[in-house]
This record gives sequence, structure tokens and C-alpha cells, in this order.
Amino acid sequence: MTYIITSLCLRDSSCVDVCPVECILPGKPIDEWPLYYIDPDTCIDCGACVPECPFEAIFPEDEVPAAYTAKGGEFISRLGLTEHYEGANEHGEPVILDCVRALEPGEVVDLTEDIQSNYDYFTEGPGYKALDM
Ligand code: SF4
Ligand code: SF4
Repeated sequence: MTYIITSLCLRDSSCVDVCPVECILPGKPIDEWPLYYIDPDTCIDCGACVPECPFEAIFPEDEVPAAYTAKGGEFISRLGLTEHYEGANEHGEPVILDCVRALEPGEVVDLTEDIQSNYDYFTEGPGYKALDM
């Protein structure tokens, strides 16, 4: 198994430093890979990253919600969406995303769609190269 970062991620980077095996990477280029991603072959399923995420974006793979009910006001970040988000990461650096959408209260979203893209980042995406650096 692995843990999965879902499209609730807004790249604030709080999860990165707590990972004991350094397997959480920011997606690059950001306009193709807007989330942070967890290398499934390196993750040891410790769960340390979960409570660090202010957006509650991280789940064990088998607990990623197929029907996530939005509180309202949170964003999802997915390619093809066109709303704009400006925030900052935990280091105070700006985070700008143009592939987001604000969720309505009670809106139900399937977050399991994010599982495959996490795997893809480390196979067909640039993640495998990043791990070698
Ligand atoms: S579950 Fe543990 S090993 Fe896996 S990404 Fe999170 S902190 Fe890293
Ligand atoms: S802490 Fe959450 S929002 Fe921040 S980079 Fe990690 S998964 Fe994304």
C-alpha cells in the first residue's frame, strides 16, 4: 500500500519534512502536475504526513474517499479546472494555481481519481527522475 495525496492538496509543503523516508515530492512542472506526490515504492505507511496537512488531503490508499463531502470553501486542484488560487506554503513562498475549483458545501467529489495520477507521476511522469537527484 501507500499513502495518497488527493486533489485537496494546495502545495503548502507541510507534509514534506515529516516524512522519514523523504518520499513526498512537489509536482513539476506545476501546470502539468499540480499536487505533491508520494512515491509508492518508498512510502513505509507510517502515517506521519496525515496530521500535518492543513487541508486534510492525505489518505491511506484504501481509504481515499470515493464520495468526499465538501465542507464548502475548500478547493480541489485538477487539470482542466480554470479557477484561480493564491496562497502561500509553510515557508511563506507564494503558491499560485490556475487549475482549481472551490467546492460548495455538501458537494460530493470522487477523490479516488487521484490515485492513478500519483502512480503515474513516478512512472510516466517526471517523479522517477526527481528521486534520482
Ligand atoms: S505515510 Fe509516512 S512514509 Fe508514507 S509519505 Fe507519509 S510520512 Fe512518508
Ligand atoms: S501538507 Fe497537504 S497541502 Fe501541503 S503539500 Fe502536503 S498534501 Fe499538499
